[in-house]
This record gives sequence, C-alpha cells and structure tokens, in this order.
Amino acid sequence: MNPLDSLYRDLIMDHARHPQGKGLQDPFDGESFQVNPTCGDQVRLRVDLDNTGEQPKLAQVSWDGQGCSISQASVSMMKDLVEGEDLDQVAHLEEIFGRLMHSRGQGIDPDEAALLGDAEALEGTSRYPMRVKCALLGWMALKDAVAKAQAGDNSPAGAPEGI
Ligand code: ZN
Repeated sequence: MNPLDSLYRDLIMDHARHPQGKGLQDPFDGESFQVNPTCGDQVRLRVDLDNTGEQPKLAQVSWDGQGCSISQASVSMMKDLVEGEDLDQVAHLEEIFGRLMHSRGQGIDPDEAALLGDAEALEGTSRYPMRVKCALLGWMALKDAVAKAQAGDNSPAGAPEGI
C-alpha cells in the first residue's frame, strides 16, 4: 500500500474512533439533521455563531450521529477545521472540500488541499461515488445549520422529507 494511503486510513479511523465535537451543545443558533439513505448515515449538527466581530464567526460546532466510519470521521475532521473561522472562510473551505470530493480520484491543487487539514485524508473517497455522499453529509448539515442560524431559525431540526 502507498504510505500516504495508509497514513490517511489511520487518520480516518482515528477520527471515527475519537470523534471531535460529538455531543450536542446548548444553546445553539441553528440545527440541521441530514440523512444519507444509500448508506444509512445520520448527522444532527448544531452551530453557535459569534456576531460580535466585523464578520460573523462559527463559535461552536457540535453534533451527534451514526453511520459508517467515513461519514463520522468527516464530521469530526470538519469540526476541527471550521470551528473559530469566519463564515466567508467556512464557505471557502466547503467549496474546496466539495471540489476535492468531486475530483474522481484526481485530487485538487495541493496548496488548496493542504488548507483542509485532516479532511484532506478523505481524498481517496472521491474515487467511490457512493462514499462521496458519506463524506459530504456533515458539510451539508453545516451549510444548512449556518443558513438557519443566519435566518434566525433556531428550532430543532426534524427529519428530512421522505425519511
Ligand atoms: Zn456512509
């Protein structure tokens, strides 16, 4: 096995076994619940915004979930990456991660990939379309929770339509 693949696999398993930010926190400004029906992964995620500065910041990300190692490790890696960042930077990282996941194993510019921290380890996932949904689930929940927080909607999130 390629030594990088093995390093990446260890990182993914480490996050899956010791998830960062797992355990829902109160209070929160926005909550989202996302399901990946093809794999059975679920993520409920809360964000708490800090609006005291010039730019709104993601003060806290907390979540709970269940599912495959990739889905759970991806949320954990994302939490480490985005917590404390302003929302413009969060959107920038989300765009880079989305491009990496849709690169079909080709990867992206290494300087950009390096901005993703541990989440770069999910690059290999982009070769498997079914697993891409697992890796993106937490990011979908983050985007939805931030949108709700910005709209002033801090109601608990129900299950998505059709579940
Ligand atoms: Zn999955």
